[in-house]
Amino acid sequence: MEMPRIDAAIVARKPAIVAALQEVLPPDAVIFDEIEVRAYECDALTAYRCPPLAAVLPRTTAEVSAVLRICHKMGVPVVPRGAGTSLAGGALPTGDCVILGVARMNGVLETDYPNRFIRVQSGRTNLSVTGAVESDGFFYAPDPSSQLACAIAGNIAMNSGGAHCLKYGVTTNNLLGVTLVQMDGTVLEIGGAHFDAGGLDLLGVICGSEGQLGVVTEATLRILPKPEGARPVLMGFDSNEVAGECVSDIIKAGILPVAIEFMDRPCIEATEAFAKAGYPMCEALLIVEVEGSKAEIDEQLALIIEIAKRHNPVELREAADEDQAKRIWLGRKSAFGAMGQINDYMCLDGTIPVSSLPYVLRRIGEMSKQYGLAVGNVFHAGDGNMHPLILYDANKPGDLELCEAFGADVLKLCVEVGGCLTGEHGVGIEKRDLMKVQFAPEDMEAQLWVKDVFDPQWLLNPAKVFPLDVTASRRAV
Ligand SMILES: Cc1cc2nc3c(=O)[nH]c(=O)nc-3n(C[C@H](O)[C@H](O)[C@H](O)COP(=O)(O)OP(=O)(O)OC[C@H]3O[C@@H](n4cnc5c(N)ncnc54)[C@H](O)[C@@H]3O)c2cc1C
Repeated sequence: MEMPRIDAAIVARKPAIVAALQEVLPPDAVIFDEIEVRAYECDALTAYRCPPLAAVLPRTTAEVSAVLRICHKMGVPVVPRGAGTSLAGGALPTGDCVILGVARMNGVLETDYPNRFIRVQSGRTNLSVTGAVESDGFFYAPDPSSQLACAIAGNIAMNSGGAHCLKYGVTTNNLLGVTLVQMDGTVLEIGGAHFDAGGLDLLGVICGSEGQLGVVTEATLRILPKPEGARPVLMGFDSNEVAGECVSDIIKAGILPVAIEFMDRPCIEATEAFAKAGYPMCEALLIVEVEGSKAEIDEQLALIIEIAKRHNPVELREAADEDQAKRIWLGRKSAFGAMGQINDYMCLDGTIPVSSLPYVLRRIGEMSKQYGLAVGNVFHAGDGNMHPLILYDANKPGDLELCEAFGADVLKLCVEVGGCLTGEHGVGIEKRDLMKVQFAPEDMEAQLWVKDVFDPQWLLNPAKVFPLDVTASRRAV
């Protein structure tokens, strides 16, 4: 992976930059010691690391604005950061940048139940948004598996999804408004407490813009009444293909479960060894969850089980109570950690048409043999969002490069079958150089124009999303 060139002239001005930042922030909010800044040298894509010049931890929109004004004036790149759980290297620093972390901006600003929204500072973690409203019978729907740690800021930047987004949509479907600070410090209010504000859909442009267009400091989020109940069923099959066909049949039947999750044998084995969730040892496993009243759940599950039976499942286990439901989910929620115990891994994130699942899984298996690297598949099958986890050894020379090439082939395959490069993790640095596989030059150019408008000097989150050769003419990266 080609890293961006570091501007030595900016690095040479570090004392002046730090002094300027210290003028607008409290002393504990500016981190510049060479050892301390290492806490920000990577995100969850740990294969790539680079300590930043400095990091700042503002507490208010006004402080964010002041920081950006300074960096804009001094020509210093800024990398916005939430909790640093990006799997695409979205929050990876450059050596000449200031990391702008919003972790301390975690307050609830307003809850409005009659109008069903909550307004929060963007550093609030995903799970604690639900935590703030659940005692009143509400919840925030998008649920990335990292929801205990990841921030709403990162969710908005990556348009994050999760297991339950099959029914409720991803972040963009649950976002009503943002406060956005532009690189020159200007504060914009975009959207509001209702869907579809007038004018151009700037909220749609901001959601999923990966820290390229501004820093989100506050967000208004749609909250929903908690369903009466939910119940998962665990299904085991003796091949990936059959499990894939079962997913297609459930969707084709017009049933809308709240989640359909898929795990293949390598993932099942790793998860059982790690979390002991009591999964059957089979080739492929599905977790299908439905929700509603008891009668609704019974009716939907009966239909789903009938469909599953047509595919000769080796296991069919409906959760009888809350404890069993938790055990069924335990394995799925531990899958990434379980794979991480075996070796280093790179988690891919491509999306494919659900009907091509069997073919794509077969091809990934063939590629695994070709590259000599093991792969486990765990993903949101209902919407075709795949997460192949490629295992490699970071200490073995050449293994990372092999893993990168394998990953690129898988993502190209996703585009080839009519899917796309990313379902929910974003492009970041990981898929940057593959953007040309999906976008024609004129499509990419339109995206660059948007960047030009919001950040004409190209100072925000450098070297991400757009291939370096494409952006070279915009700013010398
Ligand atoms: C174990 C694990 C499981 C995961 N599961 C899922 C999953 O199920 N679904 C899913 O979608 N993702 C998942 N992820 C990926 C990750 O958690 C999400 O992308 C998440 O939204 C990142 O949030 P963050 O706060 O950690 O953002 P960061 O990693 O800090 O940053 C992510 C991006 O957001 C930008 N950004 C951060 N703050 C701001 C801001 N204030 N303004 C503008 N831009 C900003 C950054 O520049 C960067 O480009 C998982 C990650 C891990 C490690």
